[in-house]
Amino acid sequence: MLYDPKNFLERIMEKNLKIMLDDVKAGHRLDTDEAQDLFCVHDRHVWDIAATADAVREQRVGNDVTYVRNQNINVTNLCVNSCGFCGFSKKPGDDGIYFYDRSEIRKKAALAKKRGVSEICTVSGLHPDFTVQSYCDVYHWIHEAAPGVHLHASNPMEVAYAAKKSGISTKEVLSAMKEAGLGSMCGTAAEILVDGVRKKICPQKVSTGEWIKIIRESHAMGIPTTATIMYGHCETNEDRVNHLAILRKIQDETHGFTEFVPLSFIHMNTPIFRQKLAKAGATGREDLLMVAVARLFLDNFKNIQVSWVKEGIKMAQLGLIAGGNDLGGTMFEESISKGAGASNTDYLDPAEMQRVADDIGRPLKRRTTLYERI
Ligand code: SF4
Repeated sequence: MLYDPKNFLERIMEKNLKIMLDDVKAGHRLDTDEAQDLFCVHDRHVWDIAATADAVREQRVGNDVTYVRNQNINVTNLCVNSCGFCGFSKKPGDDGIYFYDRSEIRKKAALAKKRGVSEICTVSGLHPDFTVQSYCDVYHWIHEAAPGVHLHASNPMEVAYAAKKSGISTKEVLSAMKEAGLGSMCGTAAEILVDGVRKKICPQKVSTGEWIKIIRESHAMGIPTTATIMYGHCETNEDRVNHLAILRKIQDETHGFTEFVPLSFIHMNTPIFRQKLAKAGATGREDLLMVAVARLFLDNFKNIQVSWVKEGIKMAQLGLIAGGNDLGGTMFEESISKGAGASNTDYLDPAEMQRVADDIGRPLKRRTTLYERI
């Protein structure tokens, strides 16, 4: 065979990739350059990365595919912010504004309890009149109507907003929310934790530094949180890795993240897509690599969730054999991804989750928000 420099380079890359992946399986902690190299793979070696992530998943958390029986209550879509990736929020005077009052929230929470959910999740638009008391009232009403249900609510943006509106510190807000029954906080509003990207897609949102500060405060107070990334819009591979590095560093210090949830950008009804500032979401390769690279890079996270809401159940199933171990929640009601243009986001029947898990030879197990088995 004649010497072919292109093939030669490919073989060297192939060998290096194999060495890197074997090292990770043996316990090597990937550095940010290595993680970036993995995100740059476009060919059949994507499957090698996915297979390694699947093996690491098995070592770290076993074979269970978990899910939580949960319901969303998004109290209002009225929001003072105008994030470029958001198709959910409305401004005063817009059509389709809604606001759930005490009676509607109690009705929805009672229905959730009747449906046998173990978690109610509430995140909403930043209503112009909201203060810290408004959030605490909502938590009280939910607990009154659905006693014993875990409340997974708010995020660092809502905490910062409540602090500003009430003239108190974010620590004081977290403390009041905990007192009102907050069980764990959503790690959303993270988007991409790179200020240059945040300026483009959500200039009014908390900065990277503020997000980190509020998450650290929450963990220090014994309020666990999820960790998220919203990818597939205008960020680079370097931005993705810098984001993951921030999460890994916080987790090393606090151990307060329950799971990592990659959120694939839903583009259809969003301003940044309409203005041609973002691409039409992530590709299948990117969705798969996000799960796999996260599993390999976030060596201090037990749980990596695949989002059927964002990716659809078929892609989510592939994520389960690329490093993912959790299918998220049943939902029953979903408005945020639907607002951005996604379809079939309201409910995933556990029977369908069972079919998906059976098909890859793994047991489906119901869990609580904090990953205890039910
Ligand atoms: S993402 Fe949240 S904060 Fe931003 S506009 Fe939408 S509802 Fe408001």
